[in-house]
Amino acid sequence: MSSLEQVLGERLARRRAQGLWREPQVVSDVQGPRQTVDGQSLRAFCANDYLGLASHPLLREALVEGVHRHGVGAGAAHLVNGHFTAHEVLERALAEFTGRERALLFSTGYMANLAVLAVLAGRHDRVFQDRWNHASLIDAGQACGARVFRYRHADTDHLAERLAQAEGQSGARLIVTDGVFSMDGDLAPLRDLADLAVRHDAWLVVDDAHGFGVLGRSGRGTVDHFGLAPNRVPVVIGTLGKAFGTAGAFVAGSSRLIEALIQFGRPYVYTTAQPPALAHATLAALNLLRGEEGDRRRDHLATLVARFRAGAAGIGLSLMPSETPIQPVLLGSPERALAWSGALRARGFLVPAIRPPTVPEGTARLRVTLSAGQAPQDVDDLLAALAQLQNGVD
Ligand SMILES: *Cc1c(COP(=O)(O)O)cnc(C)c1O
Repeated sequence: MSSLEQVLGERLARRRAQGLWREPQVVSDVQGPRQTVDGQSLRAFCANDYLGLASHPLLREALVEGVHRHGVGAGAAHLVNGHFTAHEVLERALAEFTGRERALLFSTGYMANLAVLAVLAGRHDRVFQDRWNHASLIDAGQACGARVFRYRHADTDHLAERLAQAEGQSGARLIVTDGVFSMDGDLAPLRDLADLAVRHDAWLVVDDAHGFGVLGRSGRGTVDHFGLAPNRVPVVIGTLGKAFGTAGAFVAGSSRLIEALIQFGRPYVYTTAQPPALAHATLAALNLLRGEEGDRRRDHLATLVARFRAGAAGIGLSLMPSETPIQPVLLGSPERALAWSGALRARGFLVPAIRPPTVPEGTARLRVTLSAGQAPQDVDDLLAALAQLQNGVD
């Protein structure tokens, strides 16, 4: 065997032995509350399709319409000849939706975050990250070469201390946070972060992957939820694969910010534009999500969240202080989280176990997410299964 094969074989064997092995399961129908996963029909409580739009008839139609108009592939990067009417119209609509001068599309949220940090920070700058920020922000912070300080989760005193230490130093300062934290479902203390940013002449960057579509008036996100004017958060990132139900991401902000991303953002420049038909479908998602149907879906989702929290508290489960559709059930050890996830699977529910290092030691959990596509009965049935596990039935 070649040494490459041997080295990889050893690493993989170690991974398996640590109980950290992961593999994709095959879904043979659609994203939704009921799915066929590896041939088994399951009720899924794990997607980020919070409004149930991923397989919505209007989005499917819009995608097909987009294909008729623009074909399938973009065929080139945005700055060559891959920037289509559908991209342009969607960018304008996203700018208006977020109350900003401009918005720019990216192929994925991961790439948007790489571009934002690379363009705004370099070797002589400082990036302050919430310790529990999404992996893509952490990676982007490393990749941009800036000095990175990770402050304790949502701890603005700790951040203030770190910022004070950097006082008087040259270079830019970026405060970078998730709007809604993806593993806990709690919100960043955005008002305090915005105040700190002003006091320390720092730029506040908010990745609102889980806030757009769900929080704020008409789904305008976490910034709107806190009643902050858009200029208090000069850089926002949204992803389109979650509540929007499609794929891709955007950055919104001032004309200058967007122009800088276009001129200097390598993950924007050196990649093929997302399929224009997809942008056309995302426009349909945006129109749906900010209209009456969006409000109805958000109201329904809120009742499911309240129902789940009340029911879970009633059976003595340990929840986290989350008002969003991300509702983790804390179980402690990785073994316990895996056992519960397996027992739920045997009962027809798909709920993933999240273990360290994704979450801190001792906080392994089930990550339950709710979606407007679900019925109250789905939540009740999941609660009944969780009650059995809580009572030691497996
Ligand atoms: C999902 C997610 C991303 C990555 O977005 P993709 O479009 O899936 O690459 C970035 N940030 C946060 C907070 C996310 O939850």
